[in-house]
Amino acid sequence: MKYAQLFNPFQTPQSMPIPGSAQVPNSAGGFVWTLDRWAVLDRFLILGTESGTYYVDAPMLTHENAANLVALIADHGEKVVLRICEVSHSGRAPKNEPAIFALALCASLGSEATRAAALQGLPIVCRTGTHLFQFAEICDGLRGWGRGLRRGIANWYNSKAVEELEYQAIKYKQRDGWSHGDLLRLAHPVPASEAHKALYKWIVDGVQVGEFPRIEAMRRLQKTTSGKAAAELIRAARLPREAVPTELLNEVEVWEALLESMPMTAMVRNMATMTRVGLLCPGSEGVRTVVARLQSAERLAKARIHPMQLLIAQRTYALGRGFRSSVTWTPVAKVIDALDTAFYDAFANVQPTGKRFLLGVDVSGSMGTPVFGSSVTACEIATAMAMVTMATEENVTPMAFADSFRTLPISRRMRLDDALMHTRNQNFGRTDCALPMLYALERKLAVDVFVVYTDNETWFGKIHPAQALAKYRQETGINAKLIVVGATANQFSIADPNDAGMLDVVGFDASVPAVMRQFLT
Ligand code: CA
Repeated sequence: MKYAQLFNPFQTPQSMPIPGSAQVPNSAGGFVWTLDRWAVLDRFLILGTESGTYYVDAPMLTHENAANLVALIADHGEKVVLRICEVSHSGRAPKNEPAIFALALCASLGSEATRAAALQGLPIVCRTGTHLFQFAEICDGLRGWGRGLRRGIANWYNSKAVEELEYQAIKYKQRDGWSHGDLLRLAHPVPASEAHKALYKWIVDGVQVGEFPRIEAMRRLQKTTSGKAAAELIRAARLPREAVPTELLNEVEVWEALLESMPMTAMVRNMATMTRVGLLCPGSEGVRTVVARLQSAERLAKARIHPMQLLIAQRTYALGRGFRSSVTWTPVAKVIDALDTAFYDAFANVQPTGKRFLLGVDVSGSMGTPVFGSSVTACEIATAMAMVTMATEENVTPMAFADSFRTLPISRRMRLDDALMHTRNQNFGRTDCALPMLYALERKLAVDVFVVYTDNETWFGKIHPAQALAKYRQETGINAKLIVVGATANQFSIADPNDAGMLDVVGFDASVPAVMRQFLT
């Protein structure tokens, strides 16, 4: 009888579903579980789809996620709005665009109650002029400019203080074919105050009837040609970079003045430019300022900067050349180091669990795909997150796997870009997500928790990851857990939703270590 050799309920090849399970085929042809609709929504809001995945291009991946969103809006519209507001407000997503898109869908396709809720959530999700313009542009293509939408936009303007609106008008003049003038003309708000009235008049008609010192300074700046005079205006009115005419943006003294009141996110984004114009060079005052700010835990926490923004900034800056342009600069080592430290500091106050960890970073071909519309790959982000666990816990074995298992020679004192070297451009091979468990079994390693960083496109193995974990538990007597950190916004997971010892994690934000800790303890 060969049947028993051909079929073993505890060892199913990944190209077939586990008997009796609800597994479905993933994009690579292996069988995995699907996330529930809310978890799919979370992955979309947090990870986004603009880069697509190795298997699915951005339009298709966006379409799949939008279809899930539309179905959820039809069934639970108001709850969807709450979730969007929660994710956007908490800063868990490196980019806000997916939340803006989702909110615009709620405001356009939802029931009356859902639309009203979405417009109420507008100031929570759309915090800047740019966000508001993006929202307006999406709504414009999906629905008419009815009273509800006009009132929602009017409320956005009226709910902000005049000084804040003045800053918004300077900083975010126009985007996606929309300006504040366009929106104010459409929404036609009854001004919340006399000062609002004067500001609206200035924005819509260009007529100045009130005192707006920053707008006045910006006007004068437009006529300035000397860097020194520009720097004085910028300092006095604390003007942002967006208010500066392009031809002045090559002047070192202009950047010196801008840096004084530059918000953290803008500073991190402009490191390369500040280096190129000469403000940041070895030993300069500019470097001291930037480094001191990055080292201030208080400032970092207050700026609520996303760890992935720091990681992407560090990677991009260290490269010395632009991702989308041919611009080059000579990176300053101290700045690279400060960005590196800031990345770890963004995960501050993580208490170790004392558990024995085996980290499996998926380095198969598909993980070489870029994420978040940046040049950073899913695999590099996974490695960085593995470094965060290494920095916190004592007992950690980091491994890399594809269709074979290799040691990942990273250590807790290693700089990020050095650690990333070990997984960058090394993505090859077929994917078998069961390998971390099989490796531990074979080597008789005592492991309390397996963390697998993957896009869940596993297909190559002779046994499913969940079955390999069951086998590990049975043979070692250790009730090991499995945490799956999803790297892309697809709907798949190798974690069995019916096993309380497995957890799906979405995203790479500062709260991830605390979530893992809660689960493990
Ligand atoms: Ca793969």
